[in-house]
Amino acid sequence: MNAVVDLRSDTVTRPTPAMRRAMFAAEVGDDVFGEDPTVNALEERAAEISGKEAALFVPSGTMGNQAAIAVHAAPGHEVIAEDRAHIVLYEWGMLGRFSGCLARTIPTDDGRLTWAEIRKRLRGPSDHYRGTGLIELENSHNQAGGRVYATAAVEEICANAHVAGVPVHMDGARIFNAAAALGKTVREIVEPVDSVSFCLSKGLGAPVGSMLAGAADFIAEAREVRKALGGGMRQAGVLAAAGLVALEESPPKIPAAHADAKYLAESLAEIDGIGVNPADVETNILFFEIAQTGLDNADFIAGLKARGVLALGLAPGRIRMVTHHDVDRAGCERAARAVREICSPGR
Ligand SMILES: *Cc1c(COP(=O)(O)O)cnc(C)c1O
Repeated sequence: MNAVVDLRSDTVTRPTPAMRRAMFAAEVGDDVFGEDPTVNALEERAAEISGKEAALFVPSGTMGNQAAIAVHAAPGHEVIAEDRAHIVLYEWGMLGRFSGCLARTIPTDDGRLTWAEIRKRLRGPSDHYRGTGLIELENSHNQAGGRVYATAAVEEICANAHVAGVPVHMDGARIFNAAAALGKTVREIVEPVDSVSFCLSKGLGAPVGSMLAGAADFIAEAREVRKALGGGMRQAGVLAAAGLVALEESPPKIPAAHADAKYLAESLAEIDGIGVNPADVETNILFFEIAQTGLDNADFIAGLKARGVLALGLAPGRIRMVTHHDVDRAGCERAARAVREICSPGR
């Protein structure tokens, strides 16, 4: 097999034949007028899956998160999030730029916030500050290596936040991975949160789009924000059609991707110079340390590429691989073999 093994991200997944057929056949209308039947069906299905009153189809996870922040919080509000949260590090500063909020970040080892840590930063309004406007939880946590929140921890955070009058948004870009890891439904794990965003375009394999779900009045306001951000998409049913297929077709494929990530971690852990703990791998994301190999990221990535394997260096000495349904076990074996060769060039 000569095809490239692309482990840079699960965003590289391509639409399946069933998705392409659905896109071809999709009934469409002007979604800004609310007249695209396929978008409407997707929004209803996403609401049902997440157990929320309503859902909104957005072009990207970034727009879903930022619309949620804009609706939940007001300028001057503090948003409590983990230190490496996507909304803080990878969304072009829109938290401040668009919503006028401050990031109140909490460093953790595993990406999982606890109520004990949140509580120390939570504050109500005073003459000097507006206080906490939102708590954001990333599940699974991308930069922490795909770690998943225990449902009880989310319940504890939400119950206390709600007593304080603070809403909770979950960045569930990979919520189906979290659900698979916990052996629960998406509905069960997002039940305590006020809103959730999730990507159709990552492990679910749709070409474009994310969903934002929450209460009906919240989604009505988020729809206005989406339009303000230029996210009113007209005959978007051609995209929504793929999303509808993805929601049914793709979740059953996720456990195999998780097993592949575990396999990769176990294989890499046996290689001298590679630092990785397979027990940390809960879903489809794997980070490993290469400092002991004496190679820098650029050389390491180039060595992989020369062997037909793509990965990302996201911090010095730290490489990320993400498994998904467009890579199989043979591809992961090839990736592990490539790392072994790079680390023992004499062999
Ligand atoms: C990918 C991702 C997003 C959204 O990304 P888009 O590229 O805007 O769709 C949001 N949060 C997390 C944790 C992600 O990994």
